[in-house]
Order: sequence, then structure tokens, then C-alpha cells
Amino acid sequence: MKHLLMKIYKGLYDAYGPRHWWPGETPFEVMVGAILTQNTSWKNVEKAIGRLKENGLLSSTKIRRLRRNQLASLIRSSGYYRIKAERLKAFVNFLFEHYDGNLNRMRKEEIKTLREKLLRVKGIGLETADSILLYGLQKPIFVVDAYTKRILSRLGIVPEKASYEAIQNLFMNHLPHDERLFNEYHALFVHLGKTVCKKSPECDICPIKGIEHRA
Ligand code: SF4
Repeated sequence: MKHLLMKIYKGLYDAYGPRHWWPGETPFEVMVGAILTQNTSWKNVEKAIGRLKENGLLSSTKIRRLRRNQLASLIRSSGYYRIKAERLKAFVNFLFEHYDGNLNRMRKEEIKTLREKLLRVKGIGLETADSILLYGLQKPIFVVDAYTKRILSRLGIVPEKASYEAIQNLFMNHLPHDERLFNEYHALFVHLGKTVCKKSPECDICPIKGIEHRA
């Protein structure tokens, strides 16, 4: 399995190169993006983050002080903005309650404990928690999303209905726990899923078409 997973990685990396993912100027911005991107396109998230920036409000202290309806109106473009405002507030409150608002302190927490804590924050699910850990805090954990699932099931590596954990374990159990590798691998899957392995896949131009598809 390790050989196969690395072959896929290499095929994608050779074709697309480094993806410089996740876009964001600071770890906090990455975390905000991870929360806002649920059920919406990245373009809409960028607009919402842009508005927070324009108003000088993209910091944990500022978001903590903002009223929920003010925050909701600022992030309106990200969709489900009332729910997302609540989620952002919940996350920021968590950050202050557990780490005095200090991301370096948060980063020092052991990954398993931190993940469990994040998953207890209202509105933070598996993919969001893992994105915060990997892209916000450079912790070595594999992020699974709909693209990952679709590509791997088309390759016949996992069943179509495989759980998040089952897919994540595949990578965690067979690859070195290397944050850079996990960062790049997930980003390459996102790129492939968006541009080639779409709902209707364009297999002719796929850089991993030569890899045996068991499905
Ligand atoms: S060959 Fe086709 S199905 Fe397989 S990963 Fe590429 S685009 Fe998807």
C-alpha cells in the first residue's frame, strides 16, 4: 500500500508541482478559512476574509469582541453566515479558554489531545479540525475531503462509502508522519479533483491514469 500511495503522490507532484496550500497569510487566517469553507466555494471564503481584513478585524481578539450579528454580516458572502459566525465565535472562545488566545501555546499541545478538544468545539467536524491541525499548526495529520474520497474510490483503493477515519488511517498507517508530505498530498488531491477527476472525470488528461484502477 505504501508503494501505491507514494506512486500516486509522485505522479501528481510530477505533473502539478507544489500547490502552496493552504492560502492564508497567517495561521489564524488559515483556521478562519477552514471554518468558513464548509459547504461553500473558496472564492466566497476569500471575499469574507477580505472583508474582515479590510476592517482590521482578522484577529482572535477582534473576533472575540465582535457581536455575533456584526460578524455574521461581515462574512455574509461565505454562505450560512449566521451559523458560521457562531462557529467562529465558538472557536475563538475555545482558543482563549484553553490557550489564552495564543496559537503557539495551542501548537505545543500534543496532537491527539488537541484534536479531541477541537472536535468538541461546536461546529468543528473532522475535516475542519484536521485542516486546522495540518495547515494552521503544521501538525502531521492527513486531511480527507470529498475529492480524496472520490479519487480513491475510483482507483478502487477504498469503497465508495468508506468512512473518514478509514481513509485517514490508510495514509496514517502506511506513510511517514511527515507534515510536508501530508500538506502537499491533500492539496494535490484537491487540484486533481477540481480540474480532472471531476464528477465526469477526464481520464485522458489524468497524470495518474497509468496507475492500475481496481474499480
Ligand atoms: S484516471 Fe480518471 S478516474 Fe482515475 S483518478 Fe484520473 S480522472 Fe480520476
